[in-house]
Amino acid sequence: MRQRNAGKVYIVGAGPGDPELITVKAMRLIQQADVILYDRLVNKELLEYRASHAILIDCGKAPGAHTMPQEQIQKTLVRYAQEGCQVVRLKGGDPLIFGRGSEEALELAEWGIPYEFVPGITSAIGAASSSGIPLTHRGLAASFACVTGSRCHGPGKDVRWDLLAHGVDTLAIYMGVSELPSIREELLRHGKAASTPVALIERGTTASQRVIVGTLADIHTLAVSMKLSNPALIIIGEVVRVREQLLRAEQHALSLIG
Ligand code: SAH
Repeated sequence: MRQRNAGKVYIVGAGPGDPELITVKAMRLIQQADVILYDRLVNKELLEYRASHAILIDCGKAPGAHTMPQEQIQKTLVRYAQEGCQVVRLKGGDPLIFGRGSEEALELAEWGIPYEFVPGITSAIGAASSSGIPLTHRGLAASFACVTGSRCHGPGKDVRWDLLAHGVDTLAIYMGVSELPSIREELLRHGKAASTPVALIERGTTASQRVIVGTLADIHTLAVSMKLSNPALIIIGEVVRVREQLLRAEQHALSLIG
């Protein structure tokens, strides 16, 4: 049943961290919104573009500490849309990649509330660019997969590390910081070479980005010694070597100039 005078909910990707990595459309919607519900990973600078009358609602979830339960977020979206508001549901990266945007859309659809997805640059794409690691590279990687490293991705949906170890060239693993030792073990157990390069990209695309590079053999100890923290992305595959090639080539060029 469609609501009369219903507003609309835009389920919007805010991009991976750097506030400039947002779409023109997302920025316009932020400027026009009556209500903005935003997540923890959204760069708060983006909220400064809101209209002066806009209501801001922090749905931020730190790992293990949910400030607003998913059900309550969904109810809030429905309520404001029914009041006729233009609602922006702002999420880090892309709303449909480990972002629960589709769960929220299902709830809105059930209530007959108009909604629209607005894509964002997902953190794997953002972190790959900002660390100089291509997810595909001619001759090195013809495929990549976005994978969750978290164990709590819902019942019956275990990640098939056995297939990923061989079937995909580059793995971009989200939510994997605390699970790094077990992810590494699974891949090694399924025959991935210990010499496979791995990069850990912390706070990718932001001014405080850190990149840690190792191999499957040593990456778990490097993560501990370097005190890796969230949010961070794990990239596994031969493409990680391209970063070193780029850095070497740049240094060489600079030494010729200098
Ligand atoms: N919808 C988001 C992902 C949400 S899941 C997206 O499309 O990017 C949260 C995970 O995303 C984090 O645990 C981390 O693995 C990754 N992540 C988010 N922002 C990041 C950043 N700036 N740098 C590295 N990883 C990031």
